[in-house]
Parts: sequence; structure tokens; C-alpha cells
Amino acid sequence: AKAAGRNTLRFFTPDLQSAALARAAVEADMRVALVSRQFLLHYQPQVDMEGKLQGAEALIRWQHPSKGLIPPAQFIPVAEATGLILPLGQWILRQACRQLVEWSQHPYLCTIPVAVNVSVRQFHHPDFASDVLEILSETGAAPHLLKLEITESQLISNMESTIYTMNRLRRKGVHFSLDDFGTGYSSLSYLKRLPLAQLKIDRSFVRDLLNDANDAAIIKTIIALGQTLDMHIIAEGVETLEQRDKLIELGCHLFQGYLFGQPGPAEALHREYLTRVEV
Ligand code: C2E
Ligand code: CA
Ligand code: CA
Ligand code: CA
Repeated sequence: AKAAGRNTLRFFTPDLQSAALARAAVEADMRVALVSRQFLLHYQPQVDMEGKLQGAEALIRWQHPSKGLIPPAQFIPVAEATGLILPLGQWILRQACRQLVEWSQHPYLCTIPVAVNVSVRQFHHPDFASDVLEILSETGAAPHLLKLEITESQLISNMESTIYTMNRLRRKGVHFSLDDFGTGYSSLSYLKRLPLAQLKIDRSFVRDLLNDANDAAIIKTIIALGQTLDMHIIAEGVETLEQRDKLIELGCHLFQGYLFGQPGPAEALHREYLTRVEV
């Protein structure tokens, strides 16, 4: 009977429960991490056709005392599910704004916008716009140098409040970029209602661009759409010169990817600025 009980127990202790335990452990760890400053932002350069720095995307990292550097895919979903994304998201915005203020003293980096990823739950919180404006005024960062990256799925859920939130921030100078573009559902009619400065072509289209005619066609369509709606286009995940050249041929003039620089500490961008990739 005892053995059967153990078996039963084992039967009813599937992956689901261990996953929940693992999530609870990550959550507890993250609470500690927030107060003991284990999070940091890395920055990845965004460049033009000459390889000149035109922007940077802030990407969060977790410097864990025993586990080393943890990538966001391992903790952002937990932060979303638990609500920790709210304090974490505020920290990310404040940190990025402080970086903008620091760069405002720099002869070249003073004009470089910083893109910050905003998660669904964070964006749809009723205080989101007020929080962003408060962080901007508290840090003294220039609103027009802050670019918020949101994803398509984020916009669909509540169109009216989405438009309201975006317009409120846009009026104060904040810019928006639509991340991972092409992977979700977007209709022309709703895209044109959004105050978007930029569409970001998802990495998945760039990856097979040279071998897959469909991907090239999709990118071409995105670029045409951007031109129609008066939005800038940036391609992410650019890893080779061949990809970049093909993107230029299709009409994309802004790039982000390992070809131009990995995400790294803010100081690395001071060098990045002078980097030129041979045309
Ligand atoms: P994302 O916003 O699409 O960010 C781009 C990801 O692609 C980054 O991964 C970046 O390191 C990676 N990447 C850049 N260039 C290349 C390339 O040439 N090739 C390939 N294969 N990958 C490239 P990372 O930093 O691991 O971030 C993953 C995701 O985590 C992000 O995807 C974003 O959704 C989320 N994330 C990162 N930082 C934040 C943050 O501060 N807040 C929120 N809410 N989410 C974040
Ligand atoms: Ca992004
Ligand atoms: Ca992306
Ligand atoms: Ca992506």
C-alpha cells in the first residue's frame, strides 16, 4: 500500500508541479535581486548604412551571485506571470533614463535614442503613462530620446486604451517602435491609428532572407507599409554583410544585430560609435 501511495504521489507530481516550484524559486530570487541590485542593462547598437550609431536597445540581464549572467528569456516570463514586471519595468525605465542623462553630457552619444522593451502587463497597467512621465521628469531625461518597444499582440487586446496611452506619451515627445513586426496580426487600418515612429522587422524574416523568397517579399511589404504610414523601418538580427546588403536593396536603412555589435555594457557604446562596417 505504501509503495502504491508513493507511486500515486509520483503520478500526481508531474512536471506541472515542479515547474510551479521552479517558478516560485525564480520569483523569490528575483525579489532579492531587485533590492540587491543584481539586474543591469546591456545596450545593443542600431546603425545606419554607413555603420554609424543611430540608436541603442536596452536589454536586461540578471547578474546572479551564483548562477552568473541570466538572459531575459529565463526570467521575464516569470516576472510577467507574477506581476514582478511592474517594479522591474519601472527599474528598467529609470535605469535607461539615467543612461540617457549620462549620455546627454557626451559629445556624440547625446543625440542617441534608447529603445526600452515594455511588456504587455506593464503597458496595460492604468498607471503606465503616468509612471513613464514621472520617471522622465524625475531623471531629467529628454522624452524624445526615449523609444518604447511594444509588440503587436500587446496592442490588440484593448485598442482604445492602447491608443489613449500611446497618444498621451507621444504628446510629451516619447516615441514608439513596434517590435517583432510581421509575426502577429496587424491590419493597416489599426496600424495607421497608432502613433508609431518605427516598425521593427522581426529577426525570423532576416534569418532566411537570402534563401527564402517569401521572407524577402514580406520584408518588402513591411518596408512599403512603413513608407505609406510614414514610419521608419529597422531590421533586427542582422548577422551578415549579405543580409545587410539585401536589406538595403529592399529599402531598409537601419540595422541591429551581431554584425554591428552584441548587447554590452553602456561603456561599450562609446567605442561602438566610432565603429564602421565596410560598405
Ligand atoms: P527582443 O526585444 O526581440 O530583443 C532582441 C533579442 O535578440 C535580444 O535577446 C538580442 O540579444 C538578440 N539579438 C540581437 N542581435 C541578434 C542577432 O544578430 N542574432 C540573434 N540570433 N539574436 C540577436 P535578449 O537580450 O536575450 O532578449 C530576449 C527578449 O527578452 C527580448 O527580445 C525581449 O522580448 C525580452 N527583453 C529583453 N530585455 C527586456 C526588458 O528590459 N524588458 C522587457 N519587458 N523585455 C525584455
Ligand atoms: Ca525589442
Ligand atoms: Ca524584437
Ligand atoms: Ca524577437
